[in-house]
Amino acid sequence: MIDLKSDLVNMPTDEMWATMRATEPGWVASRQDPTVLRLERMAADLMGQEAAIFVMSGTVANLGALMTYAERGHQVVLEEYSHVVWGEEWSLAYVCGLYPRLVKGDKGKLAPQDVEAAITESRFSHRPHTDLLFLENPHNMAGGTMLSVAETEALCQVAHHHGASVFIDGSRILYAAAAQGVPPAALVADADGVMFSLTKGLSAPVGALLCGSEEAMARAEKNLRRIGEFRVHKAGFFAAAGIVALESMVDRMQEDVRQARRFAEAINSIDGLVVDLESVQTNIVMVDISATGLESRSFIERLLARNVRAHPYTSELVRFTFHRHVGDVEAELTIDAVRAVVQEVR
Ligand SMILES: *Cc1c(COP(=O)(O)O)cnc(C)c1O
Repeated sequence: MIDLKSDLVNMPTDEMWATMRATEPGWVASRQDPTVLRLERMAADLMGQEAAIFVMSGTVANLGALMTYAERGHQVVLEEYSHVVWGEEWSLAYVCGLYPRLVKGDKGKLAPQDVEAAITESRFSHRPHTDLLFLENPHNMAGGTMLSVAETEALCQVAHHHGASVFIDGSRILYAAAAQGVPPAALVADADGVMFSLTKGLSAPVGALLCGSEEAMARAEKNLRRIGEFRVHKAGFFAAAGIVALESMVDRMQEDVRQARRFAEAINSIDGLVVDLESVQTNIVMVDISATGLESRSFIERLLARNVRAHPYTSELVRFTFHRHVGDVEAELTIDAVRAVVQEVR
């Protein structure tokens, strides 16, 4: 089975398992686990931030950030198809009491003037207090589209000018960095915080890192404690795998970007399938299958019969996500399987 449903399907490496086995967990709660501390240091340095906190998932990192960078009753500005809006059960409203101001982006990208308009709009002499601009890079639902260093800078400038902080949901930001050939720290240089996942392209078994200033991370610690997510016992085992992930996986991510690009071009040349090649920027490829007359669910069932798993994103879009278990051979086999499905319904 070739599984392109998500990059989450990748397995920890043998080195990760071996390192986990050899790890002696410390006392995480009093910050005495050397492995957790080392991972946090590595993550903070990678992102050019003062400090980092190891948490169990990207969702938790996002929630911790929302609790930390915004106050209840205040406004947070987000792109309308942000993961934190659609994929995290409105924790921003339910847990944090925040008002989400959704702004339409272009392929996931917010324009600074639209952000400014959202922050400054007022009616009946009421102007919401915007605490936070919450960005996503790469943008998941837009198919992995990226913000550049300059675009991030411009957005941060607008937010900061109006007294709002900027947080980046960078679950796959290492793909954005690899694809642009820039250090990840450059993509968050002007932001106030960032999170990235260890489980997606990085193949670690669990975890994400919330990064920001010492001061913000001290507040985040308290907030994470409030939701029972601070200093998970024996986290050292997972931190050990996370360290191996950062040491061994970052340099190969460009390979997934290259693979996705090649795949997108091949698929786009098949009659009946359309890929918006401009949106193929990281390791995700969205394929519009509507011209085949199939709904994506039945399309992926037919693919599954040919040992390829993909993700029915919408009724018209099928998503293929590249990761380290998909090399040239698997990519070719996938293209063949897709072509065969199209031919079979013609
Ligand atoms: C996966 C993802 C998350 C959530 O991370 P989990 O580790 O799955 O909780 C948040 N934001 C984006 C953009 C993601 O792709």
